[in-house]
Formats: sequence, structure tokens, C-alpha cells
Amino acid sequence: IVRIRGLGKRYGDHVVLKGIDFEVQPSQVVVVIGPSGSGKSTFLRCCNGLEQPEEGTVEIVGHTLVHNGAMLPERGLNALRTEVGMVFQSFNLFPHLSVLGNVTLGPRLLRGLSAAQAEAQARELLQKVGLSAKADAMPASLSGGQKQRVAIARALAMNPKVMLFDEPTSALDPELVGEVLQVMKLLASEGMTMMVVTHEMGFAREVADLVVVMDGGGIVESGDPATIFTAPRQERTRHFLQAVL
Ligand code: ATP
Ligand code: MG
Repeated sequence: IVRIRGLGKRYGDHVVLKGIDFEVQPSQVVVVIGPSGSGKSTFLRCCNGLEQPEEGTVEIVGHTLVHNGAMLPERGLNALRTEVGMVFQSFNLFPHLSVLGNVTLGPRLLRGLSAAQAEAQARELLQKVGLSAKADAMPASLSGGQKQRVAIARALAMNPKVMLFDEPTSALDPELVGEVLQVMKLLASEGMTMMVVTHEMGFAREVADLVVVMDGGGIVESGDPATIFTAPRQERTRHFLQAVL
């Protein structure tokens, strides 16, 4: 469902991604870990066209997003972004819209749903993320964990085929992390294909089908969580895990 070949990205002289080859199978949960600055966010952003790489090919949900550094035209990009959901560390909710407004806007504008259809779908999704009671609340009145769950519901409202998460719990108070991870576990159990950058090693152990370790703009190694956490092959992985576990 995702196929990446020779992905290369630099800012000026600074090489941020160097020749990444990578694949994600349908319903797979991939957790990406690695030190700060290793290129994790840039990698995810290249997968939905938020960044333009100079080299390589990115195929995602049946679209060729980048081919040898040439980007899909804007119209194709918009279509692709409806099929690839993204959740960021900072929740990026529309502050002037209610929770329901946040979750219904995209489907109405981009999927052509009527107001009633969008609202019915939004209420279902809010129930899924445990926020039925907050449909009419404004974002400013929500806790960080609640905002992030709204952000997940909003992304799901577009019916994505893949969900990308970039440190979705890093900005949260520790006691709010669990409620967001719970929703992500539910999605994983329903078969959603997910790429997740996170420092939550418990989540990685429990939910990941594949753990990818990045360092210095490349993939150091990847494997199932049991192998990566208990018997990593690479010294750099051991070093990183020692620092975070
Ligand atoms: P973190 O764990 O801190 O989020 P990361 O692994 O997500 O780190 P990236 O944000 O992908 O790392 O950054 C990789 C490298 O690219 C870093 O050295 C960073 O300074 C650099 N970089 C990222 N964005 C830009 C930009 N817009 N302009 C210049 N350099 C950038
Ligand atoms: Mg990052």
C-alpha cells in the first residue's frame, strides 16, 4: 500500500534522508523510532506530499506521489491527501469551529457529503474516539488528549486508506497519553494501515507489526518489535534504546 524507493531529501547541503527503501503492507502497523533529527518527520511528510524529495519514488494508495523527484500535480496531491490521513504532535484543530464543525468540514468540502451525512458520520466517529459528549464544544475548552482524539476523528472522516501519525502524544501531559494510544490501538485492531512516529515504546511493543529504526537520515534496521527491543542487530539501535528505555 506504500512503496518507497531510493527516497532522498536535503535542505541545502544538509542531507536529511539518504536513499530510503521501504514498504508497508495493507493493515500493517509500522512504528518509526530514532533519535531527534534522524529524519522521521521528514520521512512521513514525504509520504503525503508535504515535503518534496529530490530523489526517489513514493507510491502510496495506488498513486505515484513522487517519481524520481518529480511531484504529482496539485490536483492529484489533493486527491491523495484525502486518502492519507495525518495526525501531528500539535493538534491543528480549526479554533473557530466546534468539534462537530472540525470533523464535518473536510467531508463536506472534499468528499461532497451533505451536512446531514457529514454530521451522522462525525457523530459515529466521535463515539469511536470517546467524545460523543463534546460534539458542540469548542477546541479551546478541550484537554490536549481530547483535542488529539478530535484530530484523529477528523482525519478518519476523510475515509483514509492509510493513517500517518507524527508523535501524536508528545505534546500531552503523561496522564492523557493513554487515552490517545487507546484510540490508535482500536484503529490498529480494525485493520487500519498506520505509520506511527512515536517515543512510546510500550505502544510499539504491543501494537507494531514492524519497528523501523532511523538514524542519520537512513533506516538502520527494521524488524518485529520482539527482535528490535530484545535482540537488535545494530549497535546504533542498542545505543538509542538504552537512551529511551
Ligand atoms: P524529532 O524527533 O526531533 O522530531 P525527526 O527525526 O523528526 O526529529 P526531522 O524533523 O525529520 O527529524 O529533521 C531531520 C533533519 O532535517 C534535522 O537535522 C532538521 O534540522 C532538518 N530539517 C527539518 N526540516 C527542515 C527545514 N524546513 N529546513 C532545514 N532543515 C530542516
Ligand atoms: Mg519529528
